[in-house]
Amino acid sequence: MTLQILNNLSLKPYNSFAIDVTAEQFVDVHDDAQIREALLYAEARQMPLLVIGGGSNLLLTRDREGLVMRMASRGVRIVSEKGAQVVVEAQAGEAWHPFVVHCLELGLVGLENLSLIPGTVGAAPMQNIGAYGVEIKDVFHSLTALDRQTGEVRDFLGHECAFGYRDSLFKQHPGRWLILRVRFALSREARLHLDYGPVRQRLLEQGISEPTAMEVSQAICSIRLEKLPDPAELGNAGSFFKNPVIPVAQAQALKVRYPGLVAYPQGDEVKLAAGWLIEQAGWKGFREGDAGVHRLQALVLVNYGHATGRQLQSLALRIQADIDQRFGVELEMEPNLY
Ligand code: FAD
Ligand code: NAP
Repeated sequence: MTLQILNNLSLKPYNSFAIDVTAEQFVDVHDDAQIREALLYAEARQMPLLVIGGGSNLLLTRDREGLVMRMASRGVRIVSEKGAQVVVEAQAGEAWHPFVVHCLELGLVGLENLSLIPGTVGAAPMQNIGAYGVEIKDVFHSLTALDRQTGEVRDFLGHECAFGYRDSLFKQHPGRWLILRVRFALSREARLHLDYGPVRQRLLEQGISEPTAMEVSQAICSIRLEKLPDPAELGNAGSFFKNPVIPVAQAQALKVRYPGLVAYPQGDEVKLAAGWLIEQAGWKGFREGDAGVHRLQALVLVNYGHATGRQLQSLALRIQADIDQRFGVELEMEPNLY
């Protein structure tokens, strides 16, 4: 199949913030051959190339020169089964949540806490997606990626991916590795993680004390639908800032000044809830033009309609400066700015 390249396309439907910038050229790629063809196309014309999946972790701040390549490869298969352990592979363009549900329907446990995260399978390792006490690294088997510098295709095992808190080798080298497919180590035996936040409570409210993985997934979906704005209705990219991880002594000093500080141990350090800091600083519900901070969730910046990426970026910079001044804590932006 030859490439179907579109010219001067609005990227509004392709990013969850619904920012209306234009791509000079845009192409959907469905398999490895098309991916290579698109890379050669851009290289031959010396065009910048931006790879996107679902566009749910992007802030687009300007029109895109060159080619935007959207991962649209599909396919899920069981690679191996040994006792209860099952390795499942999904192509990068598979939508994340339907993939999670598909695995649950196959009776495979492991991805349920990561239900309802938008985006694609291929982007999931980029920031080691995490929610409700589970990160992709906990269920990761391996992935196959193409090195855009050399054209080589290679496999990565978990310990080669430098997974960290919302971080990975692939995020640390922007634009170098193109993730083609990802494999997950799942299980037919239930080992559920219910101790995070309101998960167990929600299940108990439903009269479920010994849930299945599917029931955990459904409980998490219901919690998320209540707490988070739906990008189809209100543009957003989920959490706009990472939760800052700071030394214990600094956290203790902050706790003396702010007894309500929300903090969790993270290795030898302490993770603060960035949403709490932003809320304390009075930003929750703030709106300037169409750029704002969500009224229920201070960690989520929103586009009320026609905000530009620059306006949202400038709001984020003001919040960062304010939190630094008030608490002496640096917030790092989570979405990828282009
Ligand atoms: P995109 O936004 O399209 O791309 C993100 C980055 O990955 C870009 O730098 C892009 O160039 C690169 N990229 C995309 N595909 C590939 C590929 N195949 N190979 C190489 N590079 C690639 N995140 C969490 O961790 N936990 C959550 O609970 C969570 N909840 C969210 C809730 C909402 C409402 C929203 C809007 C976002 C949420 N996110 C969450 C953020 C986001 O959904 C995830 O980071 C998701 O994995 C992004 O996938 P995507 O396909 O949309 O990536
Ligand atoms: P929440 O449950 O209100 O908790 C607030 C913050 O406290 C979270 O950011 C979380 O950190 C931390 N936290 C809560 N309970 C914890 C525990 N038992 N142990 C360690 N840390 C704890 O958060 P929320 O905003 O509704 O989000 C729920 C989950 O979905 C979180 O895991 C969050 O990361 C994830 N989420 C992520 C995004 C995104 O775009 N990245 C968007 C929406 C939701 P962690 O964030 O480190 O878990």
